[in-house]
Amino acid sequence: MTVIGRFAPSPTGALHAGSAVAALASWLDARARSGRWLVRIEDVDTPRCSAQAEAQILRQLAELQLHPDAPPVRQSDRTARYGSALQHLVTAGQAYPCACTRKEIEGALQAAGVLHERHGERVYPGTCRAGLQGRPARAWRFHTEARGSPVIEWHDRRLGAQQQDVAQEVGDFVLQRADGLWAYQLAVVVDDAEQGITDVVRGEDLADNTARQILLQRALGLPTPTYLHTPLVRAADGQKLSKQNGATALDTSRPLAALAQAARHLGLPDPPGWDSVLIAGAATPGLSISDALTWWTAAWGDRWCQARHATLA
Ligand SMILES: [Zn+2]
Repeated sequence: MTVIGRFAPSPTGALHAGSAVAALASWLDARARSGRWLVRIEDVDTPRCSAQAEAQILRQLAELQLHPDAPPVRQSDRTARYGSALQHLVTAGQAYPCACTRKEIEGALQAAGVLHERHGERVYPGTCRAGLQGRPARAWRFHTEARGSPVIEWHDRRLGAQQQDVAQEVGDFVLQRADGLWAYQLAVVVDDAEQGITDVVRGEDLADNTARQILLQRALGLPTPTYLHTPLVRAADGQKLSKQNGATALDTSRPLAALAQAARHLGLPDPPGWDSVLIAGAATPGLSISDALTWWTAAWGDRWCQARHATLA
C-alpha cells in the first residue's frame, strides 16, 4: 500500500517555527517510505481564515522545497461532503440535533453539580439526546454512546499507547456548529479518508482529537490511519507556540536555517560536517536544500520507520 501523508495548515496566519516542524515531519515521513505527500488547507473556520495567509503558507512551503504531489485542496470547497457524512450519521442514529445555548449547557451542568471542564470547554451533558422538546435545532452533535463503549485505544508512533473515554472526557461533541460551520473533527475525518491518508503526522497539540476522530471513522465505516504526534515548539513562557500567542512568521528567506531548526526539534542529526555556526549565522552551508532534505529523510526513516520495515520483511 502506498503511504500517503499530509500537512493540513489552517490559513489563519503564516507558517511559524511550530507549524514548520509538523510540515517537515509529515513530508519526511512520506518521503522516507517513498510515499506521497499532500497539502490540505483547513479553512472550515472561515471567519478566522484568509486567502492571504493561505498564499503565504504555500509560498513558504515552496521556499522550503516541501512540494506536494498534488494541488492543495481546501476544506471550504468540500462542505457538501461534510453534509453527506452528517446525514449518514443521523440516519444511523449516531448524530442528533441540539438546541442548547452555551448558557443552557452551563446551567444544566451546574444543576447536576458537574463542573467537569476540558480545555476551557464544558463537557456537554447530553440534554438533547432525549429530543429537542419543541426547541429549534442549533447544532448537530455526535452521540458518543450510540454504539456502546466509546473508550478508544490507539497506538501513537511517538507517544505509544493512548486511551480516551470520549463520552466521559469530551462528551457528545459538535459536528456542525450553530453558525452552520462544520466542526474540525468531522471535516478532518472525511478528508483524510477521501484523500487516502494512511499516516497522519501532526503536532502534539492535536493528539487529544485523535480518539474523537477514530470514533467518527468507525461510525462512518472509514479506515483509521496511523498517527505520529510531533513535539511542540514552546514559546518563551512555556506555552505552545501558536498564531494566537503571537508566533512570528517563519523566515523562509533562509530556507536551510529554517529547515535545520525544525529538523533539530525533531531530534534529527545535522548533515555530516555541517557546522552549526554556519546555520545560526548568516552564511549558507555548502549543501543544497535538496541534499539536506535527502539526509534528513534517511535519518527520519532510521528513527521512525524501522518497525514498519520489520513488519513488511
Ligand atoms: Zn442540547
